[in-house]
Amino acid sequence: MNECIFCKISSGSLPADKVYDDSQVLAFLDIAPVNPGHTLLIPRQHYGDLLETPAPIIISLVEVLPKIARAIVAAVEADGFNIGINNGAAAGQVVNHVHMHIIPRFIDDGYRAWGHRQYSAGEAIETARRVRTHLEMS
Ligand code: AMP
Ligand code: ZN
Repeated sequence: MNECIFCKISSGSLPADKVYDDSQVLAFLDIAPVNPGHTLLIPRQHYGDLLETPAPIIISLVEVLPKIARAIVAAVEADGFNIGINNGAAAGQVVNHVHMHIIPRFIDDGYRAWGHRQYSAGEAIETARRVRTHLEMS
C-alpha cells in the first residue's frame, strides 16, 4: 500500500484544498502556509525528488506554474512570490514526493531572504570548475 500523502491527495483518498488539476499535475494549498495562498504543485505520479523526475514531467509542472502563480497573486493580492523546491532532507524536504512551493509574498510579511557567504580566494573558480567537470561527465 502506498503511504505517500501526496499520492493519496493525487488519488483523492486524502482531502486537500485543490486549486488546479489536469491529467499530469495537481496543485493544492499547503496545510501549514508560509502565507495564505501558499500552494504545492506536484506531479500526479510519484517521484521522490527532482532528480528522480523525468524531464517531461518537470516540463508539465513548469508549464502551468506561471498561470497558477498569477492566480495566487491575484487571489491574495500578493506583492510577489517565491518558487521553491526542497530537494533532500538537508534542504528541508519532508514529503518525499517531488513538489514545488509557490509562496505568495508581501512587502511587509517580515520574512528575511537567505543569508549569504563570501567565497575565499580561488574557491569560486575551483567550485565552478568542479561543477563543469561533473556536467561533462553526465
Ligand atoms: P517540504 O518540506 O518541501 O517537503 O514541504 C512539505 C510541505 O507539505 C509542508 O510545507 C507541509 O506543510 C505540507 N503538507 C504536509 N501534509 C500536507 C497535507 N496533507 N496537505 C497539504 N500540505 C501538506
Ligand atoms: Zn507520492
